[in-house]
Amino acid sequence: MHFHIILTEKCNSNCRYCYEKSMKEFDNGLQKKWNFDLSAPVDSKIEIKKLKTFLSQDKNPTLIFYGGEPLLKIDKIKEIMDKIDARFCMQTNGKLLDKLPKKYLDKLSKILVSIDGDKERTNSNRGKGTYELVLKNIKLIRLQGFKGEIVARMTIAQNCPDIFEQVRNLVNLNLFDSIHWQLDAGFYRFDFDEKNFSNFVEAYNKSISKLINYWTRKMKNGKVLKFYPFVAIINSLLKKESTKLRCGSGYANYTITTNGNLVACPIMGCVKDFYCGNLDSNILELKQFFVKEPCTSCNYLEICGGRCLYSNRAKLWPPRGEELICKTIKHLIDELKKSLPLIKNLIDNQKISERDFEYEKYFGPEIIP
Ligand code: SF4
Ligand code: SF4
Repeated sequence: MHFHIILTEKCNSNCRYCYEKSMKEFDNGLQKKWNFDLSAPVDSKIEIKKLKTFLSQDKNPTLIFYGGEPLLKIDKIKEIMDKIDARFCMQTNGKLLDKLPKKYLDKLSKILVSIDGDKERTNSNRGKGTYELVLKNIKLIRLQGFKGEIVARMTIAQNCPDIFEQVRNLVNLNLFDSIHWQLDAGFYRFDFDEKNFSNFVEAYNKSISKLINYWTRKMKNGKVLKFYPFVAIINSLLKKESTKLRCGSGYANYTITTNGNLVACPIMGCVKDFYCGNLDSNILELKQFFVKEPCTSCNYLEICGGRCLYSNRAKLWPPRGEELICKTIKHLIDELKKSLPLIKNLIDNQKISERDFEYEKYFGPEIIP
């Protein structure tokens, strides 16, 4: 099982789509809809012994250090890694990666680093100098011999549909093993504007088609670039498998809050309605959550899985907004389906292998942007 562990709610960045937007959204209506528990401490106060006992119920636990910014709590990371037998991953903004001692760095199997594309895009979203600092730290940990996977974790803002250009820019850096992106859509109430978002969807979909074309062209030379949204969907299509919510939140991936509660997803930390248990719970009896309408009656559910439990339940955007988000998902799936005969042909001719589309589920990339 995969567990995000929130080490602190604090962050050393003030990103546009997180800090800046949360400052603008005073009342999104969820206070009336859900029960909140705001008593959890800012920094994790969980007992390591309790965490260890809890995780010992799982044969193969993966802990994903998460925040806020988890690297603000390096001492806690060290303590957990010293005392607990698990696989470790981390989701970080990368600014403090140079501070993690090599012994602990080497214990991480995957690091998701937030970066939005080129220097201009990343710094405009995440603050001046972020891009330079993050790249410097990634180069440094590679020099130190870090062998794990480094995932570029992009956020796509609603005024920036140029996914093709931004992903290609990251590929050309030759620093990341894989790339994932998520649209900043449906997570706040105030930020939906039908006209602007419709224009975004049109331009983004065109750019996705271009990116799929670029991706399959690379395959003709024997290289399957690990773009998580593409790889995972093609994997399901090749195996003819249907999927549940692809991030695993609420059934395969739980979040351990700073006071040791288990909740369905990292951004539902203080929402009592989505508590699934706590560190005293039987791991096999954790409460489960799944997406509801409109996903349950959608023709794309088997492949999509539902984009996001939080946005599906919070319904912060009106139906027209949800419809437009789903237009991006349906376009992505349809375009990937169109590329399937070519991909199968390349597999049959041993240019690439079906194994190139295998990946670890639930460790962080949500898959559906
Ligand atoms: S396309 Fe939209 S409605 Fe359909 S399953 Fe995905 S998220 Fe749900
Ligand atoms: S996709 Fe939604 S439910 Fe899944 S981890 Fe992200 S915010 Fe949570």
